[in-house]
Amino acid sequence: MSLAPDRIEPPQRILMGPGPSDVPASVLQAMAAPTIGHLDPYFLRIMDDLSAILRELFATSNALTLAISGTGSSGMETCFVNLLEPGDDVLVGINGVFGTRMKDVAERCGAQVTAADQDWGRAFDVEQFRSAAGDRRFKLVCVVHAETSTGVHQDLSGFRELADELGAFLLVDTVTSLGGLPVRVDEWGIDAIYSGTQKCLSCPPGLAPVSFSDRAVQCLTSRQTKVQSWYLDLNMISQYWGEDRVYHHTAPINMNYALHEAVRLILEEGLENRFARHARNSKALVAGLETMGLSMQVPLPERLPTLNAVRIPEGLDDATVRKQLLSDYGLEIGGGLGPLKGKIWRIGLMGASSTQRNVALCLTALQSALKSQGFTVNDDPIAAMKSVYEE
Ligand SMILES: *Cc1c(COP(=O)(O)O)cnc(C)c1O
Repeated sequence: MSLAPDRIEPPQRILMGPGPSDVPASVLQAMAAPTIGHLDPYFLRIMDDLSAILRELFATSNALTLAISGTGSSGMETCFVNLLEPGDDVLVGINGVFGTRMKDVAERCGAQVTAADQDWGRAFDVEQFRSAAGDRRFKLVCVVHAETSTGVHQDLSGFRELADELGAFLLVDTVTSLGGLPVRVDEWGIDAIYSGTQKCLSCPPGLAPVSFSDRAVQCLTSRQTKVQSWYLDLNMISQYWGEDRVYHHTAPINMNYALHEAVRLILEEGLENRFARHARNSKALVAGLETMGLSMQVPLPERLPTLNAVRIPEGLDDATVRKQLLSDYGLEIGGGLGPLKGKIWRIGLMGASSTQRNVALCLTALQSALKSQGFTVNDDPIAAMKSVYEE
């Protein structure tokens, strides 16, 4: 008997959960290209290209713009460990899982964290941050642009002014917005920003694009203490991505190929076209869900197009429905987290997953799952969906 396990043969899925999203074939093919050295002139060119394209996606001229080797959370951690020293004061907005995670990471850096709290499923008014701050000054003001755990889109207007009043850098999580809705680093005055590859960029998980303003870079070169993480120390990583090409760690070569192809596809589609596609597909999905008699968790002006949170009707079993979607349709959607567990489904329409075909499939699959659990489903969701595409 052989001890070797079977070859991996993952099932074909349609990924409409909170991430990962569907990965285009050409991105998977890019990952299968030959692995070369991390200092090979060809690979260095790929890195330069990536920095340039990421600047375009973030709408910034920040010199320090690169992809951290690790998932979205490593991007989060990079921002905190590089900007914080023990005892620093941090103001974090918490209205979901990812604000909560930011607080945890900041505390592990030895920072004193003050939270601005908001209900899960609602966006902040900048005044809520102001009153949580009181008359104190802060090193960092942190906010999540797209809260994947609730489907909330945070309008960032007023946050630069707030950060200036508090003497703080502005740090923003754009893991579920970059590549799906506008993110404008320079215009919005963001000092540190991170994202991840497996949400709206439609690349497998494994890299975290980050960008730091020149002011933020000055802060990290004039630290009193060493960055607590050797692996995420941008003082060293930027010497590998910059002209010196000093070895720090072996870049995950093939992952960088994949991101290169994923962002190339984004520029080929055009950012504005891509944002319009995400907005239209979300609108069509919501029209279909509401026609079926379901209601959305987040009020209209605060809704994300990339993550659609819909309330689970009273008496319906969450896990049974999601299991049925997976086994009958190969369709993955997400459940709720924290206080919203069992209360909402999270339907992702991110990157390559945001298509009319997927919207139609999801509506049909949900309709059938609800019916099979004895729920009366009103009207025809597909007709409602189509009328949005005909507008
Ligand atoms: C997914 C996500 C993260 C964490 O990214 P990982 O790739 O899971 O480490 C952070 N913030 C937000 C808003 C996310 O959606």
